[in-house]
Amino acid sequence: MKIIITVTAILSIAGILFINEEHASHNDALHSHPHSPLVAMQSDTVPTFPYQKTEAEWKEILTSSQYRILRKKGTEIPYINEYFDFKGDGIYVCAGCGQHLYDSDHKYKSGTGWPSFWKPIDDSLVVELEDRSFFMVRTEIVCSNCGGHLGHVFDDGPQPTGLRYCMNSAAMKFVARDEISEQDSK
Ligand SMILES: [Zn+2]
Repeated sequence: MKIIITVTAILSIAGILFINEEHASHNDALHSHPHSPLVAMQSDTVPTFPYQKTEAEWKEILTSSQYRILRKKGTEIPYINEYFDFKGDGIYVCAGCGQHLYDSDHKYKSGTGWPSFWKPIDDSLVVELEDRSFFMVRTEIVCSNCGGHLGHVFDDGPQPTGLRYCMNSAAMKFVARDEISEQDSK
């Protein structure tokens, strides 16, 4: 019994320590959130996204940290990232494809060390996937256009939604309000 508990503890710690490592996406399944009716897809397979690039092309256009997060589902270090405490007025677009994702009007200080929003600009802009990595069941958030990993959503956010979209700064780019154009959304 003691051995089992010890092994479980070690595995749990390993899961936390290696949270930045890539993990297989084949376990991901679509997850329907009761508060947030996102893109409706009925399948337990990973959906196909409209904006496609080869792995070689992604490596070409993304920085190494953008690639590790967006394409390999990595997580950046809390408090040491560009936007966790950033208060600029504007929008956050996908660093992979430019799709508009979040508005600074919906950003709030969560105290987690990652940029947090209580809603996306529109529910159709993100897709929820069930993430069973690291001995946890979490709800992953990906860009609905390119499928890039953005972060996770949790139920402990502020009203009116009660949701916390916990995002990676490197998965997004900030565009100031007066610089927003249609070209931001490719
Ligand atoms: Zn995208």
